[in-house]
Amino acid sequence: MEHLIRIEHIGIAVKDLNAAEALYAKLLSTASYKREEVESEGVITSFFRTGPNKIELLESTRPDGPIAKAIEKRGEGIHHIAFEVADIRAEMARLKAEGFTLLNEEPKRGADNKLVCFVHPKSAGGVLVELCQEIS
Ligand code: ZN
Repeated sequence: MEHLIRIEHIGIAVKDLNAAEALYAKLLSTASYKREEVESEGVITSFFRTGPNKIELLESTRPDGPIAKAIEKRGEGIHHIAFEVADIRAEMARLKAEGFTLLNEEPKRGADNKLVCFVHPKSAGGVLVELCQEIS
């Protein structure tokens, strides 16, 4: 069984979603297909599809939100890599047993009809990893 099935999307932290949408529309030569706010995370997201891949732009909706903090620390740019999983609870348990630090103990509701869990970048070689499972 494959655990991290594929890269589901790459998340990019941006300061100004309108400006970033215009930039990525030019870069990818396609328009954003949806915007979605995730209130619990303090973000508004915008999704692009390019071939089989997805890009998620994230703008903070509050000054103390995780995206605002990430931009403060490292500036705009790649924020996380999201992997699709078939069974998020099983993967969370597996990664925990392997010594990874999870940022949430229970899967949470993310954008785009997904259950998500983040793996702390300190335990994953400096990369914020998101596990996501489609809610059926
Ligand atoms: Zn994401």
